[in-house]
Amino acid sequence: MNKRDYYEILGVPRNASESEIRKAYRKLARKYHPDANPDDPNAEEKFKEVNEAYEVLSDPEKRSRYDQFGHAGTQTGFDPGGFGGFGEGGFGGFGTGFDDIFDMFFGGMSSGQRAQTRRGPERGNDLRFDLEITFEEAAFGTEKEIRVPRTEKCPTCDGTGARPGTTPSACTACGGTGQVRTTQRTPFGQFVNIRTCERCGGEGWVIESPCPECGGNGRVRRTRKIKVKIPAGVDDGSRLRIGGGGEAGIRGGPPGDLYVFVTVKPHPLFERQGHNILSEVEVGLAQAALGTEIEIPTLGGKAELKIPEGTQHGTTFRLRGKGIPHLRGGGRGDHYVKVKVKTPTKLSKKEKELLREFARLRKEPVGSDEKGFFQKMRDALGG
Ligand SMILES: [Zn+2]
Ligand SMILES: [Zn+2]
Repeated sequence: MNKRDYYEILGVPRNASESEIRKAYRKLARKYHPDANPDDPNAEEKFKEVNEAYEVLSDPEKRSRYDQFGHAGTQTGFDPGGFGGFGEGGFGGFGTGFDDIFDMFFGGMSSGQRAQTRRGPERGNDLRFDLEITFEEAAFGTEKEIRVPRTEKCPTCDGTGARPGTTPSACTACGGTGQVRTTQRTPFGQFVNIRTCERCGGEGWVIESPCPECGGNGRVRRTRKIKVKIPAGVDDGSRLRIGGGGEAGIRGGPPGDLYVFVTVKPHPLFERQGHNILSEVEVGLAQAALGTEIEIPTLGGKAELKIPEGTQHGTTFRLRGKGIPHLRGGGRGDHYVKVKVKTPTKLSKKEKELLREFARLRKEPVGSDEKGFFQKMRDALGG
């Protein structure tokens, strides 16, 4: 089933601000809340859909990944850290929406805070790098060095965020659980509200003495030179994955992957169609009629092409095995050359004489010195 666009679900433009997204979400959540629609079986589905859209669009990191990669960018497999717990326990998109529903119905506390257990390791984000290569590089393969700005595990503190020689200590505000419980009395009864601990941000521990290199973040920004092997035969739009080449993980999580999106520059003479190459060559009228041998450019250099006697305009010749190598080895495609017969222009007096003589022999009426076809018809009809 195709998922609907999250912006469409919330009815907001793609450049909507956080508060616009929040406003739209509240309106729709109220409209489709299952309690408000006991007789409408579709309401619950809608409610889940709205919650799922909000879950992604309200988080700047998930939102930017969604903008870039669509629904795939928010899948559990794509970034297991980002969506932990989502869809578990048969609640679909409910989970994190509950806080907001409580806020909304009971005028609750801090908005947007999500209750969750202490956060564990998270895999780093995937990165995308766009690389343009030439037609020949795509055909024969190449090795490129790219410069990728990314976050890496801080080498000074080994990712812990604590100054070397010190260790993070358990948060006293939440006792290391990362959560704070508050009880709220309302006309409907007593509600326990579980919120993320503000002091430690849900981590469960605090860094008293932050690492001087990363400032306690555990990650540092680096521009890394990475060698990318482009295999022979790649096509425009190919995507290469470099496992572990993405952003550093959080709290000891593994790094994300780096995806290199390959764009192939168009070639001035060749057009690619799968593993075959198409090109055109012009020959003169006499060459096409009498036959000749010409030199044409191919991927591996010049090649001889035999134009047989009587070649018609638009005829295509095949040069076997002169196309693009197959990606996983095993031969090459072909090169197809289409012949364009060029009608001569700017004729000299002598050339004109020869062509008129030729036309006479062929009984082809030409030019103004002979009666044209239509004039002859008119003469014949007595007109
Ligand atoms: Zn550090
Ligand atoms: Zn805490």
